[in-house]
Amino acid sequence: MNPRFTVVSWAKKGVKLVLLPAAWAGREREPGLFVLIYHRVGAGMGEEMDLPARVFEDQMRVLRRRADVVPLEVGLDRMAEGAPPRDLAAVTFDDGYADVYTRAWPVLREMGLPATLFVATGFVEGEVPPPLSRGRGASGERPAPLSWDQIGEMLGSGLLTVGSHSHTHRSFDRLSASEADEEARRSRDLLESRLGVAVTGFAYPRAVVGHEDVIARHYSYAVAAEGTKNLAGGLAPHRVARTPVRASDGLFFFRRRLDGIRPLEDRLYGHMRWSGRRR
Ligand SMILES: [Zn+2]
Repeated sequence: MNPRFTVVSWAKKGVKLVLLPAAWAGREREPGLFVLIYHRVGAGMGEEMDLPARVFEDQMRVLRRRADVVPLEVGLDRMAEGAPPRDLAAVTFDDGYADVYTRAWPVLREMGLPATLFVATGFVEGEVPPPLSRGRGASGERPAPLSWDQIGEMLGSGLLTVGSHSHTHRSFDRLSASEADEEARRSRDLLESRLGVAVTGFAYPRAVVGHEDVIARHYSYAVAAEGTKNLAGGLAPHRVARTPVRASDGLFFFRRRLDGIRPLEDRLYGHMRWSGRRR
């Protein structure tokens, strides 16, 4: 791992630790649904959106003990019936990077954990560049897309479901209603024709909610902005909150997220929008 990243990573852990007591006071105790966001695994980029493979595996072990890990749609159905007896968790991956197949999938399959993959179809088709680009002087593997065959193989196991993450991965707050409609329609049609499954879920690119009415016409649910646990009382099906998992979380702060804490620095990152690293 590159030394600059190691220093930055420890600095971030320090910030999290200092802010923890305040966040702890506001933690959510009622059982609900966590929707965890992952992007890349083990690519060696030295970025927050790329978790070391070993950390990912350890997190899945913790998750299995701490919550009922369910397919996202099952979790939403159960939440519609009221607060669950214990926390539910859904694992999701955004964009569609090849390392989901090579590094995350073997772990999920081995542990029998379900997950949802939100595919930016233009990226997988090779029409648009990777949504998560490497900065200048970045290290690690090039962000290559999954192939349709790899996605099909994971789907065939019954553990994976797919949803749309738009076609071009542009922020929805920057699109006209007709462009949003085109994104919603095109990505779903591509997924359904390439994979032969019905697609009912959507993840807003860059977690920016926009044209919710358009999305609601095409999809039965949508996952949205960053947040923490979804509670039965306040769950809006087209802006389901997701919990980002960052490389600097490691295991300690991952557990705190499962305690219902939203680290205060998430709000800071929300404003920074990852410093323009993402398209
Ligand atoms: Zn994305």
